[in-house]
Amino acid sequence: ASGVRKVYSKGEVKLPVLKGVDFNVAPGELVSIVGQSGSGKSTLLHLLGTLDRPDGGEIYFEGNRIDNLAAAGRDILRNRHIGLIFQFYHLLPELTTIENVLAPVMIRHSVLSYWAKRREYQERAKALLETVGLGHRLNHKPRELSGGEMQRTAIARALISEPQLLLADEPTGNLDRQTGDEILEVLRRLNAEQNLTIVMVTHDPNIAAGADRTVHLAEGRVQAASQAAA
Ligand code: ATP
Ligand code: MG
Repeated sequence: ASGVRKVYSKGEVKLPVLKGVDFNVAPGELVSIVGQSGSGKSTLLHLLGTLDRPDGGEIYFEGNRIDNLAAAGRDILRNRHIGLIFQFYHLLPELTTIENVLAPVMIRHSVLSYWAKRREYQERAKALLETVGLGHRLNHKPRELSGGEMQRTAIARALISEPQLLLADEPTGNLDRQTGDEILEVLRRLNAEQNLTIVMVTHDPNIAAGADRTVHLAEGRVQAASQAAA
C-alpha cells in the first residue's frame, strides 16, 4: 500500500480516515494491524481486499495494481486469491458446516462444472475442516456451533479457493480469551505450514503479539515502530 487515502463523505461533511497509508507485507508474513476504534483499520482491510476503493494512493498485490480494477477483476481476486474473515463469521444459517465451506465454489461455478468436480471440492472442504479442527462437525448448522467453531468454519470457507492472502477483521473480537487464542493458533499454523500470508486487524494486544509484526494505525497513517511503542 502506498499513499493510500480514504475520505468518507456524508453530504457536506467529509471525514478523512486514511491520509496516506504506506506499508508492505512480504509473502508468508503474519502481520497484525492495531489502532484505536475508528482509526480506519476495517477501512484499510476493505481496501486491501478490494471491497472498496481508495480515494488516492496505490495498492499492489503480487506486483499488480489492484486498487483501480474493474468489478470483474476484483471478483476474480476475491474468489481466487484473497480470502476474508470477519468478527461475525457471516455464515449462511441454512447450510451445514461443509456446505458453508463449499458455498464460494458453488456460487463461482456453473451447476455442471461444479457437479463434475464435486468430489474433489468435497474432499478439499473436508480436509480444510479437519485442518481447522472441525472434522467432527461437518453436518452441523451454524446455530449448533460455538463462536469458535463458527470462526473455524469461516476460515475453512475463506481457504476453499486456495488464496495466497487471508485478510481477517477482528477474527477473535467476539470470542473469549481462550477461544480467541485457539483461533490465533489456527491462523499461526496455516501461516507456518501452508505459507499463507495473513493480515489481521485486532484491538487485542495479546492477539496482536502473536503476529510476526504489528502495524500501528493512528491519525490516518501508519506510525513508526518507535511512535507506536510510545
Ligand atoms: P473499530 O476498531 O471500532 O472496528 P476501525 O479502526 O475498524 O474501528 P473503521 O470502521 O475503519 O474503524 O472506521 C473509521 C472511521 O470511518 C470511523 O469514524 C467510521 O465512523 C467511519 N466510517 C466507516 N465506514 C464508513 C462509511 N461507510 N461511511 C461513512 N463513514 C464511515
Ligand atoms: Mg473495525
